[in-house]
Amino acid sequence: MSEKMKTLTEPFKIKMVEPLKITSEAYRKEALKKAGYNTFLLKSKDVFIDLLTDSGTGAMSDTQWAGMMMGDESYAGAKSWEHLEAVVKELSGMPHILPTHQGRAAERIIYGILGGKDKVFISNTHFDTTRANIEFTGATAIDIVYDEAKNPEIDLPFKGNIHLEKLEKLITEYGRERIGAVVITVTNNSSGGQPVSMANVKALRKICDRYKLFLVIDGCRIAENAYFIKHREEGYANTSCKEIAQEMLRLGDAFVMSAKKDGMVNMGGLLTIKEEALALKCKNLLIISEGFTTYGGLSGRDMEALAIGLTEVFDEDYLHYRIKSTAYLGERLKAKGIPVVWPIGGHAVYVDAKQLYKEIPLNQYPGQSLVCDLYIKGGIRCVEVGSLMFGKYDEQGALIPAVNELVRLAIPRRVYTQSHIDYVLDIFDDILELRNKTTGYKITYEPPFLRHFTAQLEKI
Ligand SMILES: *Cc1c(COP(=O)(O)O)cnc(C)c1O
Repeated sequence: MSEKMKTLTEPFKIKMVEPLKITSEAYRKEALKKAGYNTFLLKSKDVFIDLLTDSGTGAMSDTQWAGMMMGDESYAGAKSWEHLEAVVKELSGMPHILPTHQGRAAERIIYGILGGKDKVFISNTHFDTTRANIEFTGATAIDIVYDEAKNPEIDLPFKGNIHLEKLEKLITEYGRERIGAVVITVTNNSSGGQPVSMANVKALRKICDRYKLFLVIDGCRIAENAYFIKHREEGYANTSCKEIAQEMLRLGDAFVMSAKKDGMVNMGGLLTIKEEALALKCKNLLIISEGFTTYGGLSGRDMEALAIGLTEVFDEDYLHYRIKSTAYLGERLKAKGIPVVWPIGGHAVYVDAKQLYKEIPLNQYPGQSLVCDLYIKGGIRCVEVGSLMFGKYDEQGALIPAVNELVRLAIPRRVYTQSHIDYVLDIFDDILELRNKTTGYKITYEPPFLRHFTAQLEKI
């Protein structure tokens, strides 16, 4: 695409449409009340712009839909499996490819084998299902990003990097035998979708070689990360995003992927492994819970669509549009005076609700208040990533707040146009008017684990 182009045009046109319902503010107030002020409990038909997640919410291309029709549903050795296996082998450079129904199934298999009591896993940031699958085996999961990454205002190119010096300290502290694996998440989803540099992963590989540690790449956004490397890291300007991804994946011992992200499909996952003995163990577990080794948890048509999606995601025009359209929302919010995590990551914009809704005390969940206001004012659905999600209680039952009170606006792939995003920006004008008038929330029901999914709230 021409660099001079001012309007960020979508590099696709629309051939099939899904109508969106336009509702009134009064209707949405009632719907949100019925949902206990929890956006996870809203019906999607009552949502106008759904920015809850970028996971499995993307639109497939005409080529992918055509591939669905060509899916080979044979139990074993299907043509669609051959297609997928060839694409993933070429991408990862690893000989053993296992299909799974989604990312966490791949995680359960690999960490079920590498984990166990007394084991320690170290990551830039474990995604929540990664942490859950590791801790479920009795192991400990430790996150180590650089301190700058925790400050939403510092502008650095690779805030997703793993803290290499801290890693060496931890290896000495625990002893190399106790380290189950080092996990590098690219981009770093739970830390603002920030990218990881190639230099960081290369240095990480050296440390893993020195101490003989197993390196897992959690790379469900490997293509988005590659775009950032191409445009921000020295020496990559003339390398294609696909070649960058290939180079990075060759540094790992295993690659775990939720295909619901850069796989450009609505469901699917992958696990690829270098070493044969470990791959055999994983395949045995795969057969017990997911299915035969040539389909995992996927139907033939799913594998066909994924093989095509993994090719399409490296289209440089697509990736340019993808990263720039996320930045478009973030940069314009910032220009309006909305505090956002900086720089803008690949798949989402994070609004700093602690800053925006300053007058709401943390134990009244300013992030959730913004989430509710965005739905009532504009039918926009997003999620709080703050004390509702991560808060704990002290012995007196007072809230121990999370480090940050963020609201995540995740962008589904190839779904919304610039006018939808401009609409979201308009709604933030209403939010700015509301900011000193709105109130907080209190929790009236919460389950013991992962409370944000099902909690019920009341407006104060
Ligand atoms: C989504 C995600 C997973 C889990 O994948 P699912 O397909 O949701 O099971 C793991 N790691 C990261 C970084 C993710 O973003």
